[in-house]
Amino acid sequence: MYKESHACESAGIQQMPGSALPDKAGVSRQIMVISPHIDDAAFSLAATLKLLALAGTMVRIVNCFTLTGFAPFGGGNDRLTAMTRRRHEEELFLHHLGGNSRSDDLGLEDAPARTGLGVRAVLIQPSSSYDITATAIHLVERLEEVGNETAVLAPLAIGNHPDHYIARQAALEKYRHLPIAFYEDLPYAASATSERIAGTVRETAAMLEHSLQVFLVRWPGDSPWKQKCCSCYKSQISQTGIEKILNYMQSNNGERLWCSDRFVNGWKWLSADSRFLIEQEQCLADCIS
Ligand SMILES: [Zn+2]
Repeated sequence: MYKESHACESAGIQQMPGSALPDKAGVSRQIMVISPHIDDAAFSLAATLKLLALAGTMVRIVNCFTLTGFAPFGGGNDRLTAMTRRRHEEELFLHHLGGNSRSDDLGLEDAPARTGLGVRAVLIQPSSSYDITATAIHLVERLEEVGNETAVLAPLAIGNHPDHYIARQAALEKYRHLPIAFYEDLPYAASATSERIAGTVRETAAMLEHSLQVFLVRWPGDSPWKQKCCSCYKSQISQTGIEKILNYMQSNNGERLWCSDRFVNGWKWLSADSRFLIEQEQCLADCIS
């Protein structure tokens, strides 16, 4: 199964007080977000993706595990209804995101569908190494080859969801040669200790065989923007869950990205623009190294 959509309107600029479109000269790069499920890109990266979309970067979200019946806050009792509802939620997010943005569904079964276990059990019981390995191989096969002009945002795999772990492993396998950064999986990161997050960053850096620098992305109005985006996914998250995500972003002063040197170089044109706030958080970088 393969599904994609495009949203090309330039809506929402007025929702960013104090900001405006930068010059587009020289800006042609594409960012590809590896999103384990429909909603992970928005929950974890809504502020970052809006900034990129406004700057003229092509934003492409690749949703991996989209064969699912998971819709805990209302999506019907069957898989088709749940999947249809989730796709509509994604379309609403893309509509808000605007710019040159699109979203593709790879159609792989999510962990509950693959294993026959409930979501709670999937999060508690360690997955079999066979499931992890076989599914990661399958995902690597489904991920497209992309050119060097593409930068990649992949999940750090904070928390216990096997699909997030597999998505990170596949991204490392397929795209380690490209500019790559890792985002903090939400809402899971909001329940993780800073030691756990630091450990996951160290583990990821070791697998990448490259150090990771932490950057914060924030802009005036990012909090209401993120709330609006999270609210698109009504079948997936409660108001309490959305507040948890917003509180996490506010306590960190933005969305945190863990970046390779090559990824950082690609952001220089953005961070040089005073209208956008992308800054290195040195104390955390010291803590991880
Ligand atoms: Zn997820």
